[in-house]
Parts: sequence; structure tokens; C-alpha cells
Amino acid sequence: MQFPATPRIARRFLSPLPRPAGARPIRRVLLALWLAALLPAGGALARDLVHAEAGELPVIIAAPHGGRADVPGCEVRTATGKRFVNRPDHNTDRLAQVIAAELKRLTGQAPYLVIARFHRKFIDANRSPEEAYGAEGCAADYDDYHAVLRRNVDDIRAKHPQAMLFDIHGQSAYRDAILRGTRHGETVTRLLARAGAAAVTGPDSVFGRFAAMGYAIVPSNDTALTDRVEAKNYIGGYTVARYGSHRADGIDAMQLEFGRDFRNNDNVERTAQDAAQAIAAFYARYLR
Ligand SMILES: [Zn+2]
Repeated sequence: MQFPATPRIARRFLSPLPRPAGARPIRRVLLALWLAALLPAGGALARDLVHAEAGELPVIIAAPHGGRADVPGCEVRTATGKRFVNRPDHNTDRLAQVIAAELKRLTGQAPYLVIARFHRKFIDANRSPEEAYGAEGCAADYDDYHAVLRRNVDDIRAKHPQAMLFDIHGQSAYRDAILRGTRHGETVTRLLARAGAAAVTGPDSVFGRFAAMGYAIVPSNDTALTDRVEAKNYIGGYTVARYGSHRADGIDAMQLEFGRDFRNNDNVERTAQDAAQAIAAFYARYLR
């Protein structure tokens, strides 16, 4: 069984793209009528489980694991052998949202933003389709998430010579640290080739800034990426592997794993502000 593609079509027109000059109100009315005709009764937008905002910066902020919403028609995932996790990365949806807002405040331009609103117990957007969900009724929302990411990567590649995707996660194994995941440098292949290791571990790298702010980071910045020192189980998942710059159609991509202490309700805003500062510094030095 396949879900109708209507929500995806609708989102394409509702995403915050600038209205073409000369678009007149009558066209908007016709568009609204056309959309209303497409949407099934009950309103398909209630099923809009991927939050997507187009941007101007060559930066994508993605959060696959912060969602809290049920997925109608999708069964809860059942455990598989491969490090099965069905709990969300608490507050990473909020973290991504505030990072994006702060980046816009700091740079004057918004990053691209993609947040899964569906709960991880239904769909794990940072897994391959084979592992991400257990029933066909979940495919449409998983596909939505990755269609947005693919479109954003393609859009950025057409407009900017260099760019970075930050995949935002949370972990509790290192509760007071931030972890870097680049699959030991693989997903930032192009960044390393043009700017060297300093772009990942130097003073104007994201983790250089985190360290300067006093955050504990794993691995430390005095190790070489080629030492394969990224933390076991946190080297970077499906998203950075699929969209990273080791692929011809990718961009540089890095997984950021925020410790639990930085994501509680008291600290999450501050953490997001600091992360935005770190990303803005990296942008100014390496992406502009
Ligand atoms: Zn995660």
C-alpha cells in the first residue's frame, strides 16, 4: 500500500520560498482552491510530520531524533539486532530550531532546517529504509524527510561552492560532552582537501569553538582524524554517510552529539546559542 503523495506536493508549494514578482492575489486563490481539491478530507497537513524551512546560508541543520508525534497508520518499530534505539534524543528538535534562529540573528541569513516531528519509536530517520521502520504505513514520512534533505543538498550545491550539513543528536553516554562524528573524516572529505584538518579541529572549527567555550569534546582536538578516534557508536550515522562529501552528489557533513546535561530544559537554549556561535565562526572562516 502506498500513501498518496499529496502532503509532499503541498509542502513544496507551502515552503517559504519567495513569491515570484508579479504573482497576483487571484493566482493565490486559485492555488488555494487547487490545493484544497488535492487534500483529502480532514486535512492532509495534519500529517505533515517533517518541519522544513528553506535557507540562504550554505548550512543545513537537521534533527532526525527529536520528534514527539504519533504517525497514523504506522506501526511501532520492533527491536532489531543492530543497536536498536526507540527513545528520542530529548530536546534536539528544540535545539535545532533555536540554533537555526540564532544563526539567522548572527549572520543575517537563515540556514536550511529539517526537523523530524515523528517519534523515533515509529521511524528512525537516521537509518536506511530497511532499518528505519517496520511497516509500509511509515514509508511516506520517512521518504518526506529524506526528500527534503536531498532537495536542500541539491539546492545548496547549485548555489554555493562549499557547504556543511550539521546532523543534530543527543546522547547520554558522555552526558557532559559534545561528540563529533565524521566517520573519521570521510564525510568531510572535501573540506579536508581544501582547508586541512584545522577546519575540523582548529580554533575556527566548530569543535575548536566548543573547546574554547569550555565544553568537553570527544575526541579532543589534539588528535588527528586519521587516528580514527571518534567515539564508538557515534562516528556518524546514515544521514552523514548518505549526504557527506565523500559522495559526488554530497556536501560536507558532520554529526553533533550533545550530552544530556546540555539538553535539559534549563540548558537547551544556552546550548543552542553556543552551538550557533560555533557554527557562525566556522561559516565565517570556511564557508563564506
Ligand atoms: Zn540521535
